[in-house]
Amino acid sequence: MDEILEMLARYERILLLGCGTCVTVCLAGGEREVGILAGQLRIHARQEGKSAQVDEHTIERQCEKEWVEEIKDRVEGVDVVMSMACGVGVQLVAEMYPEKPVFPALNTTFMGYPAQHGIWFENCRGCGNCVLHLSGGVCPITRCAKSLLNGPCGGSQNGECEIDKEIECAWQVIYDRLKKTGRLEWMNNYQPPRDWSTAGSGGPRRSVKIEEVLD
Ligand code: SF4
Ligand code: SF4
Repeated sequence: MDEILEMLARYERILLLGCGTCVTVCLAGGEREVGILAGQLRIHARQEGKSAQVDEHTIERQCEKEWVEEIKDRVEGVDVVMSMACGVGVQLVAEMYPEKPVFPALNTTFMGYPAQHGIWFENCRGCGNCVLHLSGGVCPITRCAKSLLNGPCGGSQNGECEIDKEIECAWQVIYDRLKKTGRLEWMNNYQPPRDWSTAGSGGPRRSVKIEEVLD
């Protein structure tokens, strides 16, 4: 909250922009959270004796130009946009309204799934060269603290990762999964040194679909 207040300190008319897709599902930046943050900003302004106009609006997706185009009039009527989307949404809004300051309200962390109500678990880093078919459907890049591709580091005890006892050793899970599916001999497969350029080490990646798919 302190960070958000600092970003907005010099602006009076604020558009608090939610996103109706992923951040709504993970309870971080949908219509409900926009309402909560807007309330907090108004209370803070009142306490400080300042005037603040907080416009609340949530669009279907901030990562698609069609939806972002629709808010042109709203954006023109404010001093700043505080986006509650992931980093992708914030960047697209900033790109489409380059004259307007666009700030992130969230710290985008990872791609994952809800393991329990209110708890999300990272399980894919979008490495661009998936090995799940070799690792029993368990991602060693994401779920092993050292992203090891050729078996465990040796520090695992009782199935727990040596880095954090709250986390299962990914290689224990891989072993168990391969055993359960009758593929334990796959533990002997050797993964050669990997080309990490597909994982983003070669700069921003892009994906191009062939025309037949688009048609
Ligand atoms: S191997 Fe790569 S693409 Fe597959 S789950 Fe892991 S990070 Fe994601
Ligand atoms: S204990 Fe397991 S998950 Fe943790 S770093 Fe070692 S191999 Fe990876």
